[in-house]
Amino acid sequence: MLKISQISPPLALVTLFLTVVPCACLAQTISKTADGFDLPVAPPAGTGFYKSRGFRSGGHLGEDWVTDGGSAKGFRQPVHTIGNGIVVLARDIHVAWGNVVMIRHSWIENRQIHFADSLYAHLDRINVREGQQVGKGQQIGAIGTNHGMYPPHLHFEIHKDLGIGVNHAAGTRDLRSYWLPTEFVMARRHLAGGGRNVPTPVANFLLPTTEHPWNLGHFWHSPKKKSTHPKSSKSSLSHHSTSTAQKHTSSNTWKINHYSDP
Ligand SMILES: [Zn+2]
Repeated sequence: MLKISQISPPLALVTLFLTVVPCACLAQTISKTADGFDLPVAPPAGTGFYKSRGFRSGGHLGEDWVTDGGSAKGFRQPVHTIGNGIVVLARDIHVAWGNVVMIRHSWIENRQIHFADSLYAHLDRINVREGQQVGKGQQIGAIGTNHGMYPPHLHFEIHKDLGIGVNHAAGTRDLRSYWLPTEFVMARRHLAGGGRNVPTPVANFLLPTTEHPWNLGHFWHSPKKKSTHPKSSKSSLSHHSTSTAQKHTSSNTWKINHYSDP
């Protein structure tokens, strides 16, 4: 296969575009409106879990949920969808994310249809597939460590901006692009107008390829910002195996992607 580093910059950009755009055949689909939302751990109210880290604009753009009495107890505990929706992402993104499930929800509020994405990261296991319809409370995965990178916890986000996916740089890093996760759920525990089929957009965020996830940092941050480590992103990591790349936690890969625990 042609290495990205072997082709000219314009062609490299085109190639990356081709590989990162998700399936266009799913540009729009039908989803069932939510009849309410529950917390993703121990639904409905998260009993036995607490938020070890909250949302901070410009910083941690979600919440971390762990079990009372130590996060180790939470390892492989079930993770549930907060509401009805369609799975728009269910795969191992590697880097700081690991196994990620993202679900697109629709709901009716003030007589209007609204959309949001809930995101669940670092999962030990994924129980759903992309394109699948899920119902509130259905198990979608299990709490994990992102392949041993973190103590067990669920990283949980809710996006207002449907273009973010796993690329925080695609949105404003504040409440214009995100909901406060717990507050969002608690304000919408029970909703009228649930269970209706509505047209729902699904193909409007970019995805890294699992083959070359480390190239995306390079891609995401240019042309706005030039990477300070272009060489290492291309030559030293492009063709390493996944497991090799994951060991490079202190390497330039992370600096390029600007990720700690997302
Ligand atoms: Zn987190």
